[in-house]
Amino acid sequence: MRIVLVGPPGAGKGTQAAFLAKNLSIPHISTGDLFRANISQNTELGQRAKAFMDAGDLVPDEITIGMAKDRMEQPDAANGFLLDGFPRNVSQAEALDAMLTDAGMKLDAVLDLEVEEDEVVKRIAGRRICRNDSAHVFHVSYAPPKTDGVCDTCGGELYQRGDDSEGTVRNRLEVYHTQTEPIIDYYKAQGLLRTISALGDVQDVTQRAMDALKK
Ligand code: ADP
Repeated sequence: MRIVLVGPPGAGKGTQAAFLAKNLSIPHISTGDLFRANISQNTELGQRAKAFMDAGDLVPDEITIGMAKDRMEQPDAANGFLLDGFPRNVSQAEALDAMLTDAGMKLDAVLDLEVEEDEVVKRIAGRRICRNDSAHVFHVSYAPPKTDGVCDTCGGELYQRGDDSEGTVRNRLEVYHTQTEPIIDYYKAQGLLRTISALGDVQDVTQRAMDALKK
């Protein structure tokens, strides 16, 4: 299956993507994780992306699209993938369509995780992520780790993403409304959209997502 996940920052895309990718045996491709890996390895791409990410702005398409395409062309993605954080505007969605058409492929579904803005702000403000694996996500009040600052799953160090600070979150939400939300209509018009509520237990959301994808 080829699936795109959409939803505002803090909707739980990363968390759900990790479970869904495992259930469906397809790789989880997160452009945010790819950028963060490039930044921590100090690659040229990482250096170019960093200022945009720190400000909560989109990294320009000429950087993002090539990086996403390279990743989708890896052998493990030949039979499907779950995209998390890409496409994030209509021109990226069009580039993805063109890329898939060229390869004789198409998307199977676009899963839209719905959650209201107040909840998103609360989730992001308390979010802590493991340095070893961004799918190991905790929250200071909703899902606290057993030991402060330590990942329950692997013992890694938990940290707060720089772009999870309050000022940056406001801009990321603004960017989501103006640039990313239009892709929801784009995919609705193609009959691919499946919208589910991202509220409640992580497992319940995963179940809702699996049910929506089976339809
Ligand atoms: P979240 O979904 O919580 O906002 P991500 O890890 O998906 O977090 O993305 C973090 C940042 O990485 C974004 O705010 C943006 O700067 C950059 N980024 C990720 N994916 C894209 C993309 N497809 N196009 C442009 N920028 C992106």
